[in-house]
Amino acid sequence: MGSVGAKEVPVLLSPEGLRVDGRRLDELRPLRIQAGPLHQADGSAFVEWGANKVMAAVYGPREVHPRHLQQNNKAVIQCKYNMAAFSVDERKRPGLDRRSQEISKVIAEAFESVVFAEEFPRTSIDIYIEVLQANAGTRCAGLVAASVALADAGIPMVDLLPAVAVGKVAGEIALDLKKEEDNFGEADLPMALVPQSGRLVLLQMEGHMTPEELSKALDLGVVGCKSIYEKMKGALRDRYTVEPSAAAEAA
Ligand code: UDP
Repeated sequence: MGSVGAKEVPVLLSPEGLRVDGRRLDELRPLRIQAGPLHQADGSAFVEWGANKVMAAVYGPREVHPRHLQQNNKAVIQCKYNMAAFSVDERKRPGLDRRSQEISKVIAEAFESVVFAEEFPRTSIDIYIEVLQANAGTRCAGLVAASVALADAGIPMVDLLPAVAVGKVAGEIALDLKKEEDNFGEADLPMALVPQSGRLVLLQMEGHMTPEELSKALDLGVVGCKSIYEKMKGALRDRYTVEPSAAAEAA
């Protein structure tokens, strides 16, 4: 740990170019995705990403609540992102705060650009994201979980939506920030994209970057998203692939 004024800050980048947890700048935290762990939901997914643990459940297409949100030409996509009171070191006040509302909104909007909502007029597709343990990047982990949960629910979409936060730590562009890097780094840039077209459907930024750094960060994020995309597809394959022996037994 180094010290800046009265505040103890960790050494974010070693002389060898390694980060607080030993990762290189272009390395993701370990990511495990399970599709379909919840039986009552129409679709679900559990994501363990570094120290983040996030559950997503999808219901629908179903009746719209509250009713006045109903749209005659398409489904409404509603998202509720919630961080459990026990998900962080300092107890988080339970319930909806401005941050959760903002994250819920940007996630719902990201899915509006990929879900074929017009196939289900006068219905609602409800996405619930529960963060059980948080260590930065939870909106991206939530998006990844929700995306796999939507596919698990059989909701037709253009594509899955991989997401990752890129940032700037100790003057360098780094992939997939963890808590210390988010807290003490210079910038945090969560993004989500449609892999086939490369179209960005979520992009937010806190902090400062030069245009050159921003361009480098976007490139790094795209590479990260491609590798996350493979894991998302893998989770769905694991859930829906029938072993030849099981298929023979069922026949
Ligand atoms: N965090 C916290 N308490 C809060 C909100 C956030 O401890 O009330 C932590 C949590 O670890 C979270 C991180 O700060 O993952 C970064 O939060 P941010 O708002 O940047 O969103 P995220 O990176 O999780 O998408």
